[in-house]
Formats: sequence, structure tokens, C-alpha cells
Amino acid sequence: MTYDFDLFVIGAGSGGMRAARFAAGYGARVAVAESRYLGGTCVNVGCVPKKLLVYGAHFADDFEQAQGFGWALGEARFDWSTLISNKNREIERLNGIYRNLLVNSGVTLLEGHARIVDDHTVELGGKRYSAKHILIATGGWPQMPEVPGHEHAIGSNEAFFLEQLPKRVLVVGGGYIAVEFASIFNGLGAKTSLLYRGDLFLRGFDKAVRLHLQEELNKRGVDLQFNSDIARIDRQADGSLLATLKDGRVLEADCIFYATGRRPMLDNLGLENTPVQLDKRGFIEVDEQYQTSTPSILAIGDVIGRVQLTPVALAEGMAVARRLFKPEEYRKVDYRMIPTAVFSLPNIGTVGLSEEQAKEEGYSVQVFESRFRPMKLTMTESQERTLMKLVVDAATDRVLGCHMVGPDAGEIVQGLAVALKAGATKQLFDETIGVHPTAAEEFVTMRTPVSS
Ligand SMILES: Cc1cc2nc3c(=O)[nH]c(=O)nc-3n(C[C@H](O)[C@H](O)[C@H](O)COP(=O)(O)OP(=O)(O)OC[C@H]3O[C@@H](n4cnc5c(N)ncnc54)[C@H](O)[C@@H]3O)c2cc1C
Repeated sequence: MTYDFDLFVIGAGSGGMRAARFAAGYGARVAVAESRYLGGTCVNVGCVPKKLLVYGAHFADDFEQAQGFGWALGEARFDWSTLISNKNREIERLNGIYRNLLVNSGVTLLEGHARIVDDHTVELGGKRYSAKHILIATGGWPQMPEVPGHEHAIGSNEAFFLEQLPKRVLVVGGGYIAVEFASIFNGLGAKTSLLYRGDLFLRGFDKAVRLHLQEELNKRGVDLQFNSDIARIDRQADGSLLATLKDGRVLEADCIFYATGRRPMLDNLGLENTPVQLDKRGFIEVDEQYQTSTPSILAIGDVIGRVQLTPVALAEGMAVARRLFKPEEYRKVDYRMIPTAVFSLPNIGTVGLSEEQAKEEGYSVQVFESRFRPMKLTMTESQERTLMKLVVDAATDRVLGCHMVGPDAGEIVQGLAVALKAGATKQLFDETIGVHPTAAEEFVTMRTPVSS
């Protein structure tokens, strides 16, 4: 049977774009459908605009610290609409680049909502297209809780387009997006509270990292309220919001921002027309090669709910393209030692196992830790401290995890991830000459374990 396309990709986000371009590069006839924005979540309402806002928020520190180095500045004023319109322009530029990349690689771009009709057919804009393989790369969507008055709250999609910087913000959630947005709003001058129903945010990260960030956010004036959750939201006559908490307290804010998880984007996708199965959490179930329960339908990225990060979706997209159209170059995605950053202020960078995970996995661990005031801050009023931590397997001397809270932690941890993937031992870290004077050199100069 001949098909219109060898591969029909649904969703031109991180994973879909990568799979489409690579498949076309291998000679396949590829179509990609996109209903919203080229580049998907990461480019439009995720990593990229978020990092731009974090840069914006960081200037508050820079202005303050500059005084210690002899700079006298006038009163600094911040204009939210300038930041947002410049951010929008940059995203439009990136959308254009993505369009060119697709078109130049020979992919047929179909703009509109795609719906699967059967195992080999997709419908879009009233037309049907047949394909040998269909790849679902539809990503995720913010999950809003069903509390009364939730319609007055916003999620991350809206936060990037607020018309004004709210004066008082309640951020609800304990994941990395909540922590990052709390840092953004606080840095830009909003009175910011972060509410989380658990004991401490950033579950899954190393405990020392979580506690250190808690301390640093407190120092910066973010009001952290753990074991707190909203029961209802009411809008008052003057437009402000009242959040009644489950423990009866009432908080007032101009914006309530939920970052309480993301669900897979399966809306009107037509999965009911196929035998594709979902897992217990509602994500698309796939095997090791991203194949669903229907052999011709594959799925990658946030919609399969494995590791919801752009570089992971890219790797999965590439793996699918290779497996289908260049099998001799196919390599399985390695999910171990995935480095990540949280772009809170200060940043977190982490790779490998936390101390708690290492212990749970049965390792007997040695822990090395260093806490210090970064050199740049010694001539300023800032009391911010950096944390660096190594988790080492006492039996083999292999470094199992590197963790950092401090400026540029994400930049620093990328290089360490290569070392950990290569199986570096603590001795190798010790034998590596430091770059002086940097904060990063601390990772190769920690000699005495703080616990073992
Ligand atoms: C606020 C925020 C910050 C983040 N920060 C980071 C970060 O710093 N680092 C990092 O690595 N990751 C970050 N992420 C996660 C990252 O954005 C995702 O992991 C990544 O975008 C997933 O890629 P994907 O291809 O699976 O889906 P997406 O990028 O979400 O792409 C899916 C695309 O499919 C389209 N689509 C959906 N349904 C249909 C349909 N039926 N027909 C046609 N098109 C459809 C959507 O419009 C979308 O463009 C962040 C996410 C958020 C929300």
C-alpha cells in the first residue's frame, strides 16, 4: 500500500520538530501538523521565555551589587511591558527560524489541529492524510485544580503574557516551575508568596539542595508557606483576589499562579479510534522504542510522561527518526545521568543521584559538601551563599551525584554530567586541576567527607 507520507508527526514542539527534520534528512516523506506555535512549549511558553524573564529578574541583584564595586546608579525602574514585548519579539524570531528549518529540510508543514482517524490516517482541516507511521508528540498542558474560583487563577501559559506585573503574587506548587516563577516575580519587585501543600518544595532533589534554596529564597524575601493549600478563590470588587486556605487563613493577592503539574495533551486527538493505551497516570503508554499498542503509532516527549525536559524530547525524537529510517545509526536513549537546572535565583544544577536516592538504592555513600560566599559577593551587602555537594559510592569511589545551588549552577553542571556519564571517580575529581579563581573549582577541591 502506498501512503501520502512515510511519517506524520503531530506536534511541532521539541520532540516532533526533531523527529520530523531528522526523518526528512534520512530521505523520508514527512508531514508535521501544528495547531498553535512552532517550537512548542519550550520555545513559546516554557524554557526560552522563562529564561528571558529570569535574566530580567536577575538585574535587580546586579544593580544592587554594582554599588560595592563603586558604581553609583540612579533609581532603577522596571517596565514589565518592555520586557514582555521584547520577549515576544524574540519568540517570533525563533518561530520564523523553526519555520525555515522545517521548510528547508523538506518537511510538509500543515497548520491546524490534527486528529487520528485510524491506525494510518490523520485528519486536519477537513482533509485526510495517510501515513505509514504516525508520531504523537503533542506535549503537555498545565493542570489546574478544581477549587472553587480557580477560573480567577492563571497557569504558566498566561503568566508569560500578563499585561502588568502584579503587585502581590501567590505562586502555588512545589515543582521547579513554581520555584522559578516565584524567583521571577520576586526579583522583578512583586510581593511574592509560594504555597505548597507538602513539607518542603522540589521533591526528588537532594535534601541539602532543597533546604539551601529554602534559606536563600527566605533571605530574598520570598514568603514560603509549606503545608498550605488553597480551598477557594474569590474576586473582590476592586479586582484583587482572596485565597481562603484549607486551614482557614485568608491571603490577599493580585495574581494567583498555579504550577501544580502538567497533563498530557490528548484533547480531541482521536485516540478512541485506535487501540492506543494510556498508562496509570494517563500518559500514552509506549515500549522501549516509543511504540504504542498500535504498531504504526509512536509517541515521544511530554505526552509519554517519562522525563519532561526538552533535551529528552529531542533525544527521543532523534531515536525514533533513526530507528525508522536510519536503523544502522539507532541508539537507545540513555535516561541515566540526565543533568538538569532549576533557574530559580539562585540557580540549582544537578546531575546523578541525590544522597537520599543513593542510600535508597543501597549504596554506602560518602558525602562531600562545601558552602561559601561567592567571591563576587564579598564586596557587596548580599549574604547569599553557594552550596556544592558530591555524593560518592564508598565502595568504588565513583561519583554518583553532583549538586549545586549558586550562580550559573546550570552552566557548571553540564560539564560535570560528562564526567559522571564516563564513570568518574572521586580520585579523578581530586586529580583534576581547578580553574582559579572560580566557584566551579570547589567541585575538585573538596577533600574531607562531611558524612559517610
Ligand atoms: C514553564 C515551563 C518551563 C520549562 N522549562 C524547561 C527548562 O528550563 N528546561 C527543559 O529542558 N524543559 C523545560 N520545560 C519542559 C519542556 O518545555 C518540555 O519538556 C518540552 O517542550 C516537551 O516537548 P514535546 O515535544 O514533548 O512537547 P511540546 O514542546 O509541548 O510540543 C507539543 C506541540 O504539539 C502541538 N499540538 C498538540 N496537540 C496537537 C494536535 N492535536 N494537532 C496539532 N498540534 C498539536 C502543541 O501546540 C505543541 O506545539 C518547561 C516547561 C514549562 C511549561
